Amino acid sequence: MNVTPIEPNPAPATAELVTDLRARFGSGVTRSLAWRLRQLDGIARFVAERRGEILEALAADLGKPEIEALAGEISYVANEAKHTKKHLKQWMKPERVSTPLLTQPGVSTILREPLGVVLIIAPWNYPFQLLMAPLIGALAAGNCAIVKPSEVAPHTSALIARWLPHYVDASCVKVVEGGVPETTALLEQRFDHIFYTGNGTVGRIVMSAAAQHLTPVTLELGGKSPTIVDRTADLDAAARRIVWGKFFNAGQTCVAPDYVLVDEPVHDALVHRLASTIRQFYGDDPQKSADYARIVNARHHARLVGLLENAGTTVCGGTHDESDLYIAPTVLKDVPEDAAVMRDEIFGPILPVLAMADVDAAIRFVNARPKPLALYVFSSSRDAQERVLTRTSSGGACVNQTVMHLAVPGLPFGGVGESGMGAYHGRHTFETFTHRKGVLKKPTQIDPDLLYPPYTDAKRRILEKIL
Ligand code: NAD
Repeated sequence: MNVTPIEPNPAPATAELVTDLRARFGSGVTRSLAWRLRQLDGIARFVAERRGEILEALAADLGKPEIEALAGEISYVANEAKHTKKHLKQWMKPERVSTPLLTQPGVSTILREPLGVVLIIAPWNYPFQLLMAPLIGALAAGNCAIVKPSEVAPHTSALIARWLPHYVDASCVKVVEGGVPETTALLEQRFDHIFYTGNGTVGRIVMSAAAQHLTPVTLELGGKSPTIVDRTADLDAAARRIVWGKFFNAGQTCVAPDYVLVDEPVHDALVHRLASTIRQFYGDDPQKSADYARIVNARHHARLVGLLENAGTTVCGGTHDESDLYIAPTVLKDVPEDAAVMRDEIFGPILPVLAMADVDAAIRFVNARPKPLALYVFSSSRDAQERVLTRTSSGGACVNQTVMHLAVPGLPFGGVGESGMGAYHGRHTFETFTHRKGVLKKPTQIDPDLLYPPYTDAKRRILEKIL
C-alpha cells in the first residue's frame, strides 16, 4: 500500500502552542507571588547547577573566555534573578495616587497586571543572557512565555531547549528553536507583547508582524555607538576602558564602542595607548590568548574582513584567520568618513579612530547620524561632559567608562530612534511585561449631583472653582 508521507507543518503546531499557553494563562496559575518566585528560584538554580554546561556552550559558539561568560552572561542572569526576587513583592503592590477633588470621595490606585502570553526573540552574541534576562522580568510579571533562542549560537540554543523546561513551569514557558521559518510562524500568532533583540532589519519585520495584532513591542537594536575623547581626558584610563569595552566578546557587543572621535591634540597619544593596551591585555599574538573570543561564524568573519579594506591606516592588528574565525584586535586611524567601516555597525574587533577639531565637532558628527544605543565620553571637564550628554541623544551613556551602564539594574537599558524602543533591566523589565491599570474606587453612600444634569448656573460656578 502506498502511503503519502505527511509533511510536517510548523504553523499549526505553533498556533497550538500559543493556544495552550493562553489557556494556562487564563487559569490564573501565573498570577500569585509564590508562582513567580518559584520561577525566579528555578532560573537561579538553572544557572548554578548547569554553569559548566553553559560555559561549554558559550565557548563552542563564540570561543567565549570563561571570565567574559561569567561576567556577561552567567552572573548577570543570576544577579537579575536575585535582584528581581528581592524586590518583586514591593513592585507588585498596588500604587496609591492622589484623587482630585472632582472625583472625591474615592481612592485611586495603579494595579499591575500581567500581559498574558509574550514572545522573546534573542540574538547570538550574548545568547544566554539576552534570552534569560527578559524572561526573568516576563515571569516575575506573571506572564506565560515563548522563548526563541538564536540559531546562530546553536550550542546555547540546544542547552536552553534541553534544560530550561526542567527549571521553570514548563506548562507556561515554551522554548522554540529555529531560524527564519520558525520565527516567521511564531510572528503570525497573536502575542500580548513581543520582546526582540537583534538587528534593525529584522526589528522592522517583527514590528510589522506585531502591528497585524496591535501587539506592543520592545525592540532592543544596535547601531554605531560613538566614543568621544577630549583633550582633558585621562588617556591611560580611557585607553584601558575603551579597549576592554571594544574587544570584550571580540567586539560582538551591542554597546561596544563602535568608533572613537578624539580631540586632535591628543589623537596620537590616544592611538599609541590603545595599541599598547591591546598588547598588555592580549599579548604579542592575541590569537594565542585564552582571553580573546572568536567571531561567531564564517559569514560574519567575511563581513568583518571586508570592512578592513580601504579603511585608513592600520595602527595594530588587521590580521585574520578564517579557519579559526579569528580577527586580531584592530585599531585604524586616518579613516575616511565614507569608508565602509564607518557606514554600518561594525559588531566586531575593529576600532576606527577619527580626529576631531574639538568636542563640538564631535557632537555635530554624532548628531548627523542615527541615534546610537550608547555613547561614551571621556573628559575631565564637567562642562564638556555636560555638553555631550545634553546635546546628543543615545539609548544610554557613560562618562569615563564604556559598556558598564548596563550593569546597573536601576538604569533603564534600551535604545532611542533607530537603536530601538522600550527598555529593560531590573524593575524596568518587570514593568515592560506589566500592564499598569488605573483604577478609581468610589463609595456609593455619597453621590454629589454636581456633574449630573440638569446643569444649573450654581453647579457651573462651583465647577469653575474646582476644575
Ligand atoms: P541574530 O542573527 O541571532 O537574529 C536575532 C533573532 O532574529 C534570532 O533569534 C533570529 O532567529 C531572528 N531572525 C533572523 N532573521 C529573521 C527573520 N527574517 N524573521 C524573523 N526573525 C528573524 O542576531 P543579529 O540580528 O545578528 O544580532 C546582532 C544585532 O543585534 C546587532 O545589531 C546588535 O547591536 C544587536 N543587539 C542589540 C542588543 C540590545 O540589547 N540592544 C543586544 C545584542 C545585540
